[in-house]
Amino acid sequence: MFDGLEEQKSDALLQLIALCNADPRDEKIDVGVGVYRDAAGGTPILRAVKAAEKILLETQETKSYLGSAGDARFVDLIKPIVFGEAAASDERIVGVQTPGGCGALRLGAELIVKANPNARIFVGQPTWPNHQPLIECAGVEMVSHPYYDRATHEIAFDAMMDALEGGKAGDLVLLHGSCHNPTGADLSLDQWRAIAEIVARKGLVPFVDIAYQGLGNGLEEDAAGTRLVVEAADQALIAQSCDKNFGVYRDRVGSLFVKASDASGAGVVMGNLLSLARTMWSMPPDHGGAVVRIILDDQGLRADWRAELDEMCGRIRAIRARLAGYDERLAYINDQNGMFSMLPLTKDQVLALRKDNGIYMADSARINVVGLSDESVEGFARAVVEKMD
Ligand code: PMP
Repeated sequence: MFDGLEEQKSDALLQLIALCNADPRDEKIDVGVGVYRDAAGGTPILRAVKAAEKILLETQETKSYLGSAGDARFVDLIKPIVFGEAAASDERIVGVQTPGGCGALRLGAELIVKANPNARIFVGQPTWPNHQPLIECAGVEMVSHPYYDRATHEIAFDAMMDALEGGKAGDLVLLHGSCHNPTGADLSLDQWRAIAEIVARKGLVPFVDIAYQGLGNGLEEDAAGTRLVVEAADQALIAQSCDKNFGVYRDRVGSLFVKASDASGAGVVMGNLLSLARTMWSMPPDHGGAVVRIILDDQGLRADWRAELDEMCGRIRAIRARLAGYDERLAYINDQNGMFSMLPLTKDQVLALRKDNGIYMADSARINVVGLSDESVEGFARAVVEKMD
């Protein structure tokens, strides 16, 4: 039965991790992997998460089923974080817990196809490589447009707007809420306003992927653009992840919110989300969502989470500033957000850094800035600049 299957390419980033692990050099540097690393190079469990896990262990009374929507209180607590306090009671916006941001993206894509089998979605390039399989697998047609100009390190905003002008009512637009992966180049507030205007004028439907809220410029700041477009749009989808800002990657914590035109439409959307979720994972895993719920429901734990999140954000900003200060050709890195930036290197230069310096980054020259420690950042910048010369 399986004879007809074709060999699949293994994930490029996983291959990179294997190469790095096999490199015996002590001074090797891994800027490939896309998780947060602290100054000591680890990805520790947040204090508030550890504390909430203890509470969960001691107080949980049953592991009976929760249902396809997952933990409703978790969803209620995430809603104001993404949309702001004022929108928390907006009945046009409904949400369900999902297995991470990936689950939210996939569920959103399934909902889109169910609502309109001919739907298409505008996607800026480059984008996170998993966007395409997650969205196209469900059957949504992707229409690519430029997003980032590597030569100038700027967003190709005019080209993006030209593409969106070609959209028709009901077309979707994929937007990164903050900390764009892989470029780090986020839309300015003015650019978000321009997108909100075109979305409202043409009846486009934003599909916002907000997976790094709080790791760019702060929790509120990182949601400002998302709030602008969601407010302007008659209908929208928002795929949210807690996996990075709570550091619970493997526990798969996320949510999908959908804004419908009115409250009764939102009820119908909710019913469809539940029946679609049932065909994919039936119910999301509970542990991580329960932990996030406990943190957000407890003032002390919430404050501690915010403090640790701000620390992570501060470390990202500090490494960015040091890279940017090393050479004027890297200055743009300080204006970008989140863990990722793309260096002005060719693939050959990336491979040479791997061989000569034990520096492991994706072939695209995307780096995770917190793969660097306070000690390694200078040597890393020197090696990169040497290859650029
Ligand atoms: N969106 C983007 C842009 C991402 O980079 C990621 C994770 N790398 C996700 C969504 C999904 O995150 P997860 O499923 O781990 O919550």
